[in-house]
Amino acid sequence: MESLYDVFRRRGYNRRDFLKSVLLLTASLGLPPSAFARAVKVLDLKPKPVVIWLEFQDCAGCSESFIRSTSILPSDVLLDYISLEYHETLMSPSGFYAEEAKKEAMERYKGEYILIVEGSITPKDKGIYCTVSGKSNVELLKEAAKDAKLVIAVGSCASWGGIPHAEPNPTGAIPVSQVLEGKQVVNIPGCPPIGDVIVALIMGLVITGKAPELDSFGRPKTFYGQTIHDRCYRRPFYNAGKFASSFDDESAKRGYCLYKLGCKGPITRNACATVRWNGGLSFPIQSGHPCFGCSEPDFWDRGFIYSPLSVVEGEFSWKTALAGLAVGTAIGTASALINKKLQEGK
Ligand code: SF4
Ligand code: SF4
Repeated sequence: MESLYDVFRRRGYNRRDFLKSVLLLTASLGLPPSAFARAVKVLDLKPKPVVIWLEFQDCAGCSESFIRSTSILPSDVLLDYISLEYHETLMSPSGFYAEEAKKEAMERYKGEYILIVEGSITPKDKGIYCTVSGKSNVELLKEAAKDAKLVIAVGSCASWGGIPHAEPNPTGAIPVSQVLEGKQVVNIPGCPPIGDVIVALIMGLVITGKAPELDSFGRPKTFYGQTIHDRCYRRPFYNAGKFASSFDDESAKRGYCLYKLGCKGPITRNACATVRWNGGLSFPIQSGHPCFGCSEPDFWDRGFIYSPLSVVEGEFSWKTALAGLAVGTAIGTASALINKKLQEGK
């Protein structure tokens, strides 16, 4: 099987492009400079990582995000440098032939393949709400996870139960980790997660040969170690008590903090403020929309998207700004601290 460097050469890229991509990759994973030489060696010689991607109660939005990943490696190499052996949305075979291809891949790459799961699991009523080829989703998940080198739960549905788990949760949706108790599951939450983060984590596994360092919620610390608020470029406005009061007033045009418009950045751990979306172009807050915390557990049930974590009353003035600063900072800090404690499992 081809190595990543072979793929680069076949696509017309030179050695310099390859080294530049590997450098970007190791930097984005937060690996020390000494890891660069090892990464080059591994990606020069090692065959492409084999990936089996299962979808259960999902909308395929995570797959969409994955195939639109752009910033870490040239986009046209993306699907070429991962050997994607099974993916219901992207593969051309269907029915019997698709299932046979999966079975064959699981046997041939036993103990070597990476299993990615998108969507929540429904064990309720013997799993009849989500079946493929006559088998329940629980059975299919256990079968594929048994000989996987690593299981990655991609998206908030797979990580926490997500939208299907929202009240009243008619199918009894649960996260992947709850079915695979005792097996390590890496959670990459987000609705959807950032495609570049998914790719970086797969390549990181290939380079280091092991799962990344995780927090107590099973999330990689490199990308989920800080809140959006910690790295938000609007933070100076928050600290100064300058908040946008509506989406179209003067304060919004000046780029003030979106806390009063419902921003959940202070309690949301993700890399949107640093990695950003669409090849690093932008992220929701940069487009003028508050973060609604899609990567946190139960985000859909935690309150309305446009309800602030605390309410700062009145129109903008020095008086309200100071009140906003006091209330916003106190409650925002408290929320962030509570969240930090929760993440640390204290
Ligand atoms: S996490 Fe969001 S984008 Fe991904 S499958 Fe669930 S609903 Fe769709
Ligand atoms: S509340 Fe939201 S918009 Fe304001 S600084 Fe924090 S993350 Fe940025």
